[in-house]
Amino acid sequence: MSEIIEHIECLIIGSGPAGYTAAIYAARADMKPIMYAGMQPGGQLTITTDVENYPGYPDGIMGPEMMELFRKQAERFGTDVRYGMITSVDFNGKAPFKVIADESKELLADTIIIATGASAKWLGIPSEEKLNGRGVSACAVCDGFFFKGKEVAIVGAGDTACEEASYLAKICSKVYMIVRRNEFRASKAMQHRVLNTHNIEVLFNTETDEILGEEKVSGARFKNHVTGEMTTVDLSGFFVAIGHHPNTDIFKGFLEMDETGYLKTTPGTSKTNIEGVFACGDAQDKVYRQAVTAAGSGCIAALDAERYLAAKADY
Ligand code: NDP
Repeated sequence: MSEIIEHIECLIIGSGPAGYTAAIYAARADMKPIMYAGMQPGGQLTITTDVENYPGYPDGIMGPEMMELFRKQAERFGTDVRYGMITSVDFNGKAPFKVIADESKELLADTIIIATGASAKWLGIPSEEKLNGRGVSACAVCDGFFFKGKEVAIVGAGDTACEEASYLAKICSKVYMIVRRNEFRASKAMQHRVLNTHNIEVLFNTETDEILGEEKVSGARFKNHVTGEMTTVDLSGFFVAIGHHPNTDIFKGFLEMDETGYLKTTPGTSKTNIEGVFACGDAQDKVYRQAVTAAGSGCIAALDAERYLAAKADY
């Protein structure tokens, strides 16, 4: 049973760099944005430690602190940030769109900016969770620098894992690449690059038994599932690159997505196939996935939404 309907000019779903940047622009354009920040506000940056590649922070900043500053900036211009989930949407017909918050609260939104992000897939072993942010990471570009000159491992065999292994190989003394089958999934060009990098050693048919370390990663134990052999390797960093899930399930059936669930937008814009619904950040970007690119796309979404509302008002 739904509660009373609330009419919103601009609804922002998600509270990572894309969502907050969209909120800053939307609020300054007097669109009175209301943000549903989710159950873990701040998105993926809240589970990282130092962020050193976001311009404007010459000494780096902790991910959670950075997202706190984003939130304050969005609120300063009047964004109503709510801790809660948009649990379903109805994009049949034209705006205003009906959406349900927290299973029961009905909202009507003139325009919607989707910034729900993506979540890294994890191996699901207890030591991975225990050491997350203490040497275990799902983003080589974000965290590789902390392991300069050290030995690391990366799990995965797709294009992301190959790209990240190559990136790590430039920074680290040695990279073990842990591949569960006897072949890669990545494109031939990416495989070629990995196999021809002198400090990348690929361990095929290998699975992670445990990541070792108490306060931080000190190594990992791997199992070759063909020979049954166990190998322990000393490591400083352990990267997981086994894919991401875009958080787009509630939009299925309404918005165009690729086969893995990333939202499709008109190139060069944030426009989805539904007029008035815009997408930004990692929910629609499986290639770059950086805080700064997400923030830039959040700005684009707010400007697109503003222009959409202005054009409607002119009719
Ligand atoms: P993919 O889904 O392509 O690959 C995931 C990899 O992780 C697979 O090799 C898979 O193994 C492995 N894996 C999954 N689960 C486990 C597990 N539990 N333990 C060990 N290994 C596991 O994801 P990507 O992120 O690599 O790529 C996503 C998409 O983005 C792809 O379409 C890719 O081509 C594209 N992309 C393109 C780039 C480019 O063009 N520059 C760069 C990055 C991504 P298995 O093979 O055995 O299933």
